[in-house]
Amino acid sequence: MQAILKKLTAGEGTSPAEWQALLECSQPAERQALYKAAYAVKLQTVGPTVYFRGIVELSNICSKDCYYCGIRRSNANVERYQMGEDEIVRDALWAHEHRYGSIVLQAGERQDAAFVDQIERILKRIKAESDGELGITLSLGEQSAEVYRAWFEAGAHRYLLRVETTNPDLYRQLHPATHDFDTRVACLDTLRDVGYQVGTGVMIGLPNQTTADLAQDIRFFRDHDIDMIGMGPYVLHSETPLAQRVDAINPVTQLELGLKMIAVTRLVLRDVNIAATTALQALHPTGREMGLQAGANIIMPNLTDTPYRKDYQLYEGKPCIDEDSTMCRGCLQKRVAGIGETIGLGQWGDSPHYLRRAGGRSLVEGTGADTGTGV
Ligand code: SAH
Repeated sequence: MQAILKKLTAGEGTSPAEWQALLECSQPAERQALYKAAYAVKLQTVGPTVYFRGIVELSNICSKDCYYCGIRRSNANVERYQMGEDEIVRDALWAHEHRYGSIVLQAGERQDAAFVDQIERILKRIKAESDGELGITLSLGEQSAEVYRAWFEAGAHRYLLRVETTNPDLYRQLHPATHDFDTRVACLDTLRDVGYQVGTGVMIGLPNQTTADLAQDIRFFRDHDIDMIGMGPYVLHSETPLAQRVDAINPVTQLELGLKMIAVTRLVLRDVNIAATTALQALHPTGREMGLQAGANIIMPNLTDTPYRKDYQLYEGKPCIDEDSTMCRGCLQKRVAGIGETIGLGQWGDSPHYLRRAGGRSLVEGTGADTGTGV
């Protein structure tokens, strides 16, 4: 294991089989060595600054029926909501006022014109009302190239679309036949062509998923030149078909696997942005801090208005659903300070990988946004 870590730390070539060996390490001392090496590479490549992406979960209406997700279309127990435009813009401007730098707009998946147009209007308003300063990431599922382009032109510049797993057989076990793996992958290529910084990710610790699968996921991220990674442990939701198929999941080993995956991804991909996702905290009260210490550099504080939060439970045990944005902000600031890192307030915190890929080209001409100094 030491030999593999040494090669990765030096930026030398390694194989998926070697990454798999790291993902399988089980002794506490080995895990600590892995996290330490990943943290060192994080300091070298992206630094000790955590960037906030305030997330607005603007609707739980979803046309998809993913077997693992609590807000899948067939779950009749969920009270469906769609936030109003004014509410969404107000939440975004709250983030701007508190110098978050960037937000994420996430929702269940809809492709109808009313939804597409509403998002476009919201993007334009947020851009105008924040003087172009607030960076916007979208996480709104599979869309056509035209829609991705319209949203990009309206002001979004990053897009997160998790591929969920890169093993097509496993993908089929997790989704109805109408959900197509190749279509999802093609969306990533389209997003890249349109000009977005492209994010993807997987769920970690799924039933029937092996460590070889996870190593192949990392290889996919590398081969697709992905800029940002949002991935987290699979967590049960009892009102889903997948939960009926599996026995209880051990939260300790599930969290460990999530952290090891972050660490190995950091070691292999080096200069990408990696989120310490909320699912880590569903498994352990300080799961997100552990994620930062294993190599992640992004946190997504929840901005969703409190009354809606209970209805956006993709999995059980989601933290912070009784809290509001101010509480989430204070809590996360303490958490970040607690591990000796600082928050990159007022900066977009774009992925250095993207900036290199784009040859240092400024995303928004003249703002200096991509230098991390201006906005
Ligand atoms: N509609 C958007 C956003 C999906 S929700 C889209 O299709 O991209 C964001 C992510 O939550 C999903 O991509 C999935 O990876 C994750 N998720 C859903 N159910 C989960 C569960 N039970 N455990 C952990 N993560 C889950």
